Amino acid sequence: MKPLDVLKNFYGYHSFRGHQEAIIQTVLDGKDCIALMPTGAGKSVCFQVPAMILPGLTLVLSPLIALMKDQVDAMNQLGIPAAFLNSSQDISEQRYISGQVLAGHIKILYVAPEKLYGGNYPLVDMLQKVELSLVAVDEAHCVSQWGHDFRPEYLKLGQLRKSFPSTTFLALTATADRDTRKDIADRLNLQRPQWFISSFDRPNITYRISLRSDAFAKLVDFLRIRPNDSGIIYCLSRKSVEETADRLCANGFSAVPYHAGLERDVRQANQEKFIKDEIRIIVATIAFGMGIDKSNVRFVVHTNMPQNIESYYQETGRAGRDGLPGEALLFYSFGDKITLGRMIESSDNPEYVRNMKSKLDTMVRFCQTKKCRRKFLLQYFGEDYGEECGNCDICFQKGSKTDVTIYAQMLLSAVVRLDQKFGIGHVIMVLRGSQAAKVTEQQKLLSVYGIGKDKSAEFWKLLGHQLLVEGYLLQDDPLRPVLSLTSLAWEKLKKKEKFLLSMPNDDFTSGMQQTEK
Ligand code: ADP
Ligand code: ZN
Repeated sequence: MKPLDVLKNFYGYHSFRGHQEAIIQTVLDGKDCIALMPTGAGKSVCFQVPAMILPGLTLVLSPLIALMKDQVDAMNQLGIPAAFLNSSQDISEQRYISGQVLAGHIKILYVAPEKLYGGNYPLVDMLQKVELSLVAVDEAHCVSQWGHDFRPEYLKLGQLRKSFPSTTFLALTATADRDTRKDIADRLNLQRPQWFISSFDRPNITYRISLRSDAFAKLVDFLRIRPNDSGIIYCLSRKSVEETADRLCANGFSAVPYHAGLERDVRQANQEKFIKDEIRIIVATIAFGMGIDKSNVRFVVHTNMPQNIESYYQETGRAGRDGLPGEALLFYSFGDKITLGRMIESSDNPEYVRNMKSKLDTMVRFCQTKKCRRKFLLQYFGEDYGEECGNCDICFQKGSKTDVTIYAQMLLSAVVRLDQKFGIGHVIMVLRGSQAAKVTEQQKLLSVYGIGKDKSAEFWKLLGHQLLVEGYLLQDDPLRPVLSLTSLAWEKLKKKEKFLLSMPNDDFTSGMQQTEK
């Protein structure tokens, strides 16, 4: 069967994506490859399709024991003879699987790397007895001390390459900076591997980073502006997961906690509810999300800085997997570096500590950068992004913005003077000094009455809309379109900062100062 036929017959997909086809062809030609593909790009197909075409067995090495069963179940459902071997199974079960493998009934076998050489019955002995056509090393960055998730048991895989000289090896990973990439090839002893590097850009994700002062109020605003969206909020500790979930519930949000300290049943139930859209928000430690296939996650919030860019990229990558807009919001403070530095120092591997500290420094620079976040991220993964993205907080600040400070202040004060009890229509009437009966005598005495006469109602409407979109105004009562100020707006007013908004450059905005790009 040809690769495309396998894809159609077993998976029901019509065409390959990105580098999938080229990778599969290279594997079928018997050449070692390294594939770097972002999460969700479809790495599994790259070894599952060849496995169905090649004679003999394909071995898949993965550290994610918890996910093996799901993956194998999914394959069996597609009619692919797959199995897994790991420490969660009892001896008789493991023996049964081994028998099946030796009898040639299994095409794809998933194992954790420690199974290869460990225990009384090291798996390599059995592998010598079968026709091993392909070894796929998933999460291949785990082999490198330069990576963010080094696992010593991966080092043995270099030996495996030597023991099976005529087998093809395919290494796959979703995150690896330049140093780690080279290291993967060296440590796995790959034979002149062919590289396939997909773009890591996730154009539909908006990146925003904010200082953690008033983080909870900012978070509440963020969530209110997106009343129908579902998302993940990552916290550093179990305690802060619990606290944040409680506070969100107390503020009327549909949120549940998720961390390793919860009872297994509770944890699983919470995860289910989130996946089935029965609750909107899951507040979690980073234990949550590995292998969760929920495509309509609209936002990922970090209430603390992640340890490194790789983790940040992987975690934020869970937003917008369906291709629709997604948002990544990160709160950081200077204390984060110290806390995370201490966590890293608790390791007794000095080289690891040095590498992780340098990664932490890069993470801090990412938070503090004045350059396009996407450009920074992609450069870190070795890509030259060229232009600025126009879809991150830095680009928003820099983009062609109009200084509407005085008008924004007028509109916001009108909202406040009206006790945050009216919609945009009424606010505009007051600003423009309307004589309509709806405007009360008392409102006519307000200092804001008529101060916006020189601008059209259309202009004020547009400005109000833009203040809503950019997070300064809130309109969260579904029944009555009443405006109120967000904490972001209060902060800006207090600090007397300028309001630079992306106003469409129509006639009614002319005369206002356009800031340069
Ligand atoms: P990764 O391991 O790279 O995160 P997966 O292998 O889990 O990604 O694939 C992500 C999703 O994309 C899965 O639901 C998979 O079935 C789907 N997928 C993979 N390849 C294709 C394709 N060629 N066409 C359509 N969907 C695909
Ligand atoms: Zn940008």
